[in-house]
Amino acid sequence: MNKPRSAIKRRRTKGRNLNTPTLRLFIDGTWTPSSDSATFETFDPATEEVVANVARGTREDVDRAIHAARKAVDGEWRATLPKRRVELLYELSRALEGRAEEFAELETRDSGKPIQRSRREIASTVRYFRYYAGAADKVQGSTIPLGPDYLDFTLREPLGVTAHIIPWNAPLNMIGRSVAAALAVGNTAVVKPATETPLTALLLGELFEQVGIPAGVYNVVTGPGSDVGAYLTHHPEIDGITFTGSIETGRQVMHAAAEHITPLVLELGGKSPSLIFADADIASATAQTVKGIYSNSGQFCNACSRLIVHSSIKDQVIHHLVEQVSRLRIGPGIEGTDMGPLISQTQYDRVLNFIRIGQEDGAELIAGGGRPVGLDRGYFIAPTILDRVGPDTQIAQEEIFGPVLAILTFDDEDEAITLANNTPYGLAAGIFTKDLNRALRLATNIRAGQIYVNEYFAGGEETPFGGYKQSGFGREKGLEALLHYTQTKNVAIRIY
Ligand code: NAP
Ligand code: MG
Repeated sequence: MNKPRSAIKRRRTKGRNLNTPTLRLFIDGTWTPSSDSATFETFDPATEEVVANVARGTREDVDRAIHAARKAVDGEWRATLPKRRVELLYELSRALEGRAEEFAELETRDSGKPIQRSRREIASTVRYFRYYAGAADKVQGSTIPLGPDYLDFTLREPLGVTAHIIPWNAPLNMIGRSVAAALAVGNTAVVKPATETPLTALLLGELFEQVGIPAGVYNVVTGPGSDVGAYLTHHPEIDGITFTGSIETGRQVMHAAAEHITPLVLELGGKSPSLIFADADIASATAQTVKGIYSNSGQFCNACSRLIVHSSIKDQVIHHLVEQVSRLRIGPGIEGTDMGPLISQTQYDRVLNFIRIGQEDGAELIAGGGRPVGLDRGYFIAPTILDRVGPDTQIAQEEIFGPVLAILTFDDEDEAITLANNTPYGLAAGIFTKDLNRALRLATNIRAGQIYVNEYFAGGEETPFGGYKQSGFGREKGLEALLHYTQTKNVAIRIY
């Protein structure tokens, strides 16, 4: 193991706050300022204070990162035996585990999420590196019978240099899920973290150095998506793109990928329902729904932002929801609260606007609706419940990405399925019932990439994850993700 150098450089001279650290780009195993030395600030959404200065990468920096990744993928990483890749990625998972608390605190400062949630996300990132480490020497081709005159076999080869565009809602975890899979099968990576949450991606570079993964295998260029991200996705030297983020940006990335026919995985948004039937265990179904929408302040792509409930039990369900929501502790995530702030002023304004539009469209406010009492700074919005939401109104159709639950009702199973499928999205759906046949009928009729029965978010690093319809295409997580980071070469040999 190498002695890691530090991602963080303390300012010694001028600057507003002498203690504000500066993080540099991680390119070719080296920490560098951006080519024009520009930086940007990243904020703690709970206090609105600056957490760090971060290098604002340029196109030149992207070129350097791609060049380093190319050199590594054709050189040292290619020469690293699969069984050695297993060891290196496993060592990386152990190194991250050893510093989990430091990473979790940094994630919470940068993103606002409750510290126990950050801990879970870091633990899951450890798992991704460990899971894919185990796969690094097990991805193999096949032989195909063409009769006695031929020998035919397939090779599963890496794409090459892969670009990973990361959102702010689960910053390090999203890197674990896509980068670990890409590296395991022999690719190298250039990562573009979200501007709001660049810190843990950079800090992870220290661990790559420490465990001795060759320089250029993992590179991080921070900076604005509209510049650095767009340049990266348009780049002719990128062999594969994984984009996780909003539909609007996803569409731009798809256009960019079209230019050089670059393979693409798109993980986009959702408007996922939680369906509660009259025979469900109501206390458990409502607790799962509360977890499904208010975890991470509703800022999960697979959050259950719609509750579709049988009309006969609606009042009872609402009673449970209101009671459970009233017990959620809201405040700075670092204090171990249940719900932290939203990521930014922009998201705060956007979510409040949706709540207002919902009410204008006839929805009835049952809980929340604005800033919680006693929290004067930070982007906090109380857990919000809106009842009597019309199925075609904006708050039933559009991703809000905040702690807002829209309640709709149904009278029979067909109506429940119709409502569940009635959005342009298809990421996830939760089904709460004791009737197994009903659960299976719904599981087959709902158009979504993830079906959770009687536990919202059920699944793990092992289970394939991705969208139907406009929630995207391609799958991350599980062994299936490896299909997107390899390409199949068929070799047919005539035997004379
Ligand atoms: P976003 O605004 O689309 O940004 C995602 C990433 O794309 C950021 O790194 C952003 O950089 C970058 N970017 C912006 N413009 C770009 C461009 N023209 N070309 C290339 N990259 C560009 O999404 P977000 O607001 O960060 O994240 C929330 C969204 O992500 C939600 O819609 C959520 O549902 C979705 N999400 C989906 C999944 C999934 O697995 N399906 C998981 C998590 C989140 P900047 O930060 O610098 O703008
Ligand atoms: Mg931040």
